[in-house]
Amino acid sequence: MQENIIIAGKCTSAQAPVSWQQQLSQAIRDPNALCKRLGLSDQWLAGAHAGHLQFDICVPEAYLARIKANNPDDPLLRQVLPISDEMLTPHGYVTDPLEEADHLPVKGLIHKYANRVLLIASPNCAINCRYCFRRHFPYSDNSPSRAQWQEALDYLRGNTSIHEAILSGGDPLAANDRQLSWLVEQLESIPHLKRLRIHTRLPVVIPDRVDNDLLGWLSSTRLQKVVVLHINHANEIDQAVMDACTRLKQAGATLLNQSVLLRGVNDDVATLETLSERLFEAGVLPYYLHVLDPVQGAAHFNVPDDEARTLVTQLRDHLPGFLMPRLVREVPGRGSKTPL
Ligand code: SF4
Repeated sequence: MQENIIIAGKCTSAQAPVSWQQQLSQAIRDPNALCKRLGLSDQWLAGAHAGHLQFDICVPEAYLARIKANNPDDPLLRQVLPISDEMLTPHGYVTDPLEEADHLPVKGLIHKYANRVLLIASPNCAINCRYCFRRHFPYSDNSPSRAQWQEALDYLRGNTSIHEAILSGGDPLAANDRQLSWLVEQLESIPHLKRLRIHTRLPVVIPDRVDNDLLGWLSSTRLQKVVVLHINHANEIDQAVMDACTRLKQAGATLLNQSVLLRGVNDDVATLETLSERLFEAGVLPYYLHVLDPVQGAAHFNVPDDEARTLVTQLRDHLPGFLMPRLVREVPGRGSKTPL
C-alpha cells in the first residue's frame, strides 16, 4: 500500500487534498510518536508521558511541519511538548486561574465583562498548548446540545446591554460549519448584538480550516466580524497561514492577534519584534501580549512582571506604535484586562 505524506493539507501522491477534519483526526496524540517524529532523544519521553496524562498531546501535521527536528528548544515545539516541569506545583498555580466557574450563568456561556459574553462553541482544539489557562476547564459540563443552546440564547435575548458575542472554546472553529452557521444565525437574529468575535488558533494550526464552508457563513452574517488569532512566534506564520488570513479578510473580518509571553518561546525583544512585523505582513494587527495566567502545569513558562515590562519598553524602540501589543494580565473579578 502506498504511504501518503501530508504536507499542510496536500497529499504527495496527487490524490484529493486532505480535509481539515482528516488533518485533525490524523494529529499526533501519542508521546512516543511525537518524540520520534521530531527526532527527540529518549530523555524527553518520561516528561512527555507524565504531562500527557494531565493534558493530552495533540499536534496536527501542518503545525509539526513548522517545527525543526532534533531541536528541543524549537519555540513551536516548546508550546506542544509536555515536559517534566509540568509536574511542579508552585504556590499560586491553580486549575481555574481566572475563576471562570463563578461566571457561568448558564451552560456554555461565560459572562465576565459588561456588554459582551463568551460562548464555549466547542470543547475541542486542533492543538493542545501546554500553557493553556483552560487546560483543566470542565468542558464536559459546558458543551451544550442544540436544545441547551436555547438557554444561552435566551440569556442573550433578555440582556439588551450585550453587544458582542465571543465564540471561544476550546477552539470554536473545531466545531463543524453546520453547527457554527446555525449558531451565528441565531446570534444575528438578536437585534442588540452588533459584533461577532472569534478567538481561534485553527487558521494557524491547520490553515485549510479556512475553507469555503467557513467563509460562507462568516461573510454572510450581518454582524461585524473580528477574528482574534493566537500566535506566539513568527515561525508559526508560513505562507499557508498568510493565505488563510487573506481569505478571512476577504470575508470581511478584522484580524487581530493575541500572544502569551512565554519563557523559552518569545521572551526576547528580537523575537517579539519579528512576530509583530510578520503579523502585519499577514494583515493581522498585534493586540494583546498576555502575561501567563497562573494555571497548574505551566509555571515554567512564566516571565516575571518586571522582566515583561522591561521587554515591552525595549520593544517600543523597535516598532511603530500600531505594531505594539498591549501588555496585560487578566485578573479574576475585574471588568477588563489590566495593563501592566
Ligand atoms: S484553547 Fe487555545 S490555547 Fe488552549 S489549548 Fe486550545 S488552542 Fe491552545
